[in-house]
Amino acid sequence: MSNWHQRSLTEVSQALAAGQVTSTTLTEMCLSRIEAHSKLNAFLHVDAAGAKAAAQSSDQRRAKGAALSPLDGVPLALKDLIITEGVPTTAASKILAGYLPPYDGAMPRRLKAAGAVILGKTNLDEFAMGSSGVYSAFGPTLNPWDQARVPGGSSSGSAVAVAAGLCFGALGTDTGGSIRQPASLTGILGLKPTYSRVSRAGTIAFASSLDQVGPFGRSASDLAIQLQVIAGHDPEDSTSSSAPVPDYSANLGRGLSGLKVGVPSEYFVAGMDPGVEQVVQAGLEVLREQGATLVPISLPHTQYALSVYYVLCTAEASSNLARYDGLRYGVRAQEKELRRLYAATRHQGFGHEVQRRIVLGTFVLSAGYYDAYYGRAQKVRSLIRQDFERAFQEVDLIATPTSPVTAWKLDERQTDPLSMYLADVYTLAVNLAGIPGLSMPAGFAAGLPVGLQLLGPWFGEPELLRAAAAFERATVHAQARPPE
Ligand code: GLN
Repeated sequence: MSNWHQRSLTEVSQALAAGQVTSTTLTEMCLSRIEAHSKLNAFLHVDAAGAKAAAQSSDQRRAKGAALSPLDGVPLALKDLIITEGVPTTAASKILAGYLPPYDGAMPRRLKAAGAVILGKTNLDEFAMGSSGVYSAFGPTLNPWDQARVPGGSSSGSAVAVAAGLCFGALGTDTGGSIRQPASLTGILGLKPTYSRVSRAGTIAFASSLDQVGPFGRSASDLAIQLQVIAGHDPEDSTSSSAPVPDYSANLGRGLSGLKVGVPSEYFVAGMDPGVEQVVQAGLEVLREQGATLVPISLPHTQYALSVYYVLCTAEASSNLARYDGLRYGVRAQEKELRRLYAATRHQGFGHEVQRRIVLGTFVLSAGYYDAYYGRAQKVRSLIRQDFERAFQEVDLIATPTSPVTAWKLDERQTDPLSMYLADVYTLAVNLAGIPGLSMPAGFAAGLPVGLQLLGPWFGEPELLRAAAAFERATVHAQARPPE
């Protein structure tokens, strides 16, 4: 079989277990594909030696019948926001150029303990701030469906690596949509778990009350297998949940019958691309045909999500990014006086979007404005959360579009930050509420992938994955692959 790159993580995991392929073969294939597709700029750093060594150890374990998990020997990629021992970690920022973390974050630690092969670190919008991948200090990632277009962001490289068959699964982070939106724009699945489900330890912080790590894959089962390994309590993350981790693959075959799926009126309003709307409506129809009951619902505070998100995420970012002062990490400007050193380092090291967020965040937290902006945004965040609490008393899941538009051209939305921010209207509220959300391929509009977003109640990942698996069985969209 020569078409391994077209296959899902689940298929590859089964083939490894059945002895039909070795991890070394898969890893070498991925490494040569990464090189052949370097124009996509999906990877910022490839750890070929580390990956080959991990593959070899995995093959030895498999030969002894001692595989560590279904991920043993599977080549994966990590967003370059996740720190990896001795392997460059940049957050796609010049300020971290040359930084070699002294230890592994929780994610590589767990993946390695499960036997996974980590191929390298993927591109992103600098410090995960953006929706296009264009705000990387190391050049944009290209969408494999149309290389003149963005793949979405901020987890641009992880999404593209999976979509283009450069690896079999990948981790991204989602603070306001950064897993779901690029999954939607590149035709794959992406899951943002419930806040606190996956450890944030060793993942560079953007907005700590919103950030969550999650997987990309080509099927619901691909997501389940990865989530199984990364979910669970971690004493190194004080917000980490100690709720037991269920078997995420257990109920994938259960189908949709009996599930009530809410369709919020606020998510189907002007501004949506008509092609996207058509695909999403057809997707809802599939859910209904498969036995779900569609229930019209209202999430009345949706309209405030964008404003609340940009007050809170900038406030948290301004505080989290204060540590990049030129003394402890990465680049240092040539200045002797301390305040000048800070200022010059940050001016040289941070890109425009990151600077904009720090300035906005510092403003909303400043004396005299704190109550008017930050305090108020926290109150409205509670109302947004209550909208979902109320909705989930009535329905099991909620279905919405993931993004109002398909992938846009690389140079679009550059000069107008507001239009970039608006690309996330359907994903932000989910992070504010802390609930899990999943995007899955639902079809194409003018040749470009469109995602359908499913939202679940807190810790509702099993139901989300079950619904996505049923949708996948009833449609062909997740099997589409971009042109080579
Ligand atoms: N696009 C959103 C932002 O720019 C979300 C980013 C993210 O989820 N990391 O903040």
